[in-house]
Amino acid sequence: TDSDTADEAVRATCDDASTCKRFATSKGYWTDLYVQYFVRQIGERKAPEINRGYYGRVRGMNLLIDAFLKKTQCDCQVVNLGAGLDTTFWRLKDENIMPKKFFEVDFPMIVARKIHHIKTKPPLSKPLIETHSTDSLLLDGHSLDSDRYCIIGADLRDLPALEEKLKKFQINPELPTLFLSECVLVYMTSEQSSKLVNWVADTFPTTMFINYEQKERFLSAGWESVNALDMMTVYSVLPREDVTRIERLEFLDERELLQQLLQHYCICWAVKDKLSLGEASI
Ligand code: SAM
Repeated sequence: TDSDTADEAVRATCDDASTCKRFATSKGYWTDLYVQYFVRQIGERKAPEINRGYYGRVRGMNLLIDAFLKKTQCDCQVVNLGAGLDTTFWRLKDENIMPKKFFEVDFPMIVARKIHHIKTKPPLSKPLIETHSTDSLLLDGHSLDSDRYCIIGADLRDLPALEEKLKKFQINPELPTLFLSECVLVYMTSEQSSKLVNWVADTFPTTMFINYEQKERFLSAGWESVNALDMMTVYSVLPREDVTRIERLEFLDERELLQQLLQHYCICWAVKDKLSLGEASI
């Protein structure tokens, strides 16, 4: 059907994101020791402005993620919505800033592929086994559950099913919870994405939602404080030294192209802070 074809096109975007991240890291824009296990080939060259765009995106997201983990002293959960082949869990493990539990959600078909990579690549599976207390991990084709990492196949447009699955894997709504959506809500209607964002606000009293998206579509209902920075601004507040370093990696002919690209995107973050952790100052 038409909607199956549309969903298939959406699922394919997870390869685009990871392929671009794989390429940019191969050039030295930032370090990701794990993306190679999800995308083997470095693949075709990407334009410098694309690499710089991804650099701003990944650095900007990471700054906010790390600030939340610090604020909560890792006594929290992270839920990555539409996680695709994202490697954040493994970075946090290596940097010793793992949340109590890290959840990922994506379409069952993507989740099945990710689980296959995890099962067959020891650098991916070892950290899960090391942080797990019993001998057996729960593993079926469409979900994997360990003490600290869990990946769930679900459609983000079906909230009752999503809620039931998160409960099944012991999400604790009372624990401070960070929601991430990096280029995900844009693939839903604004009605569907508002429902999702509202459900988070209604269900989690102490929470932060970080969304990377195009600037035009952003919603605030049910949240205490909302911030949005377009990527031009994010790029300008990233540590100068590192930006200077990556700008030397590849020559960029037309700076205007990069500016146009960065102006279309933004990172927004919204908080609800029942436990008064001071999230609004992040
Ligand atoms: N967040 C990852 C990143 O930035 O590297 C992947 C981004 S990719 C552009 C979008 C992801 O959202 C895909 O993996 C896709 O399958 C997922 N996605 C989009 N709509 C979804 C839905 N309704 N339910 C579950 N996953 C969805």
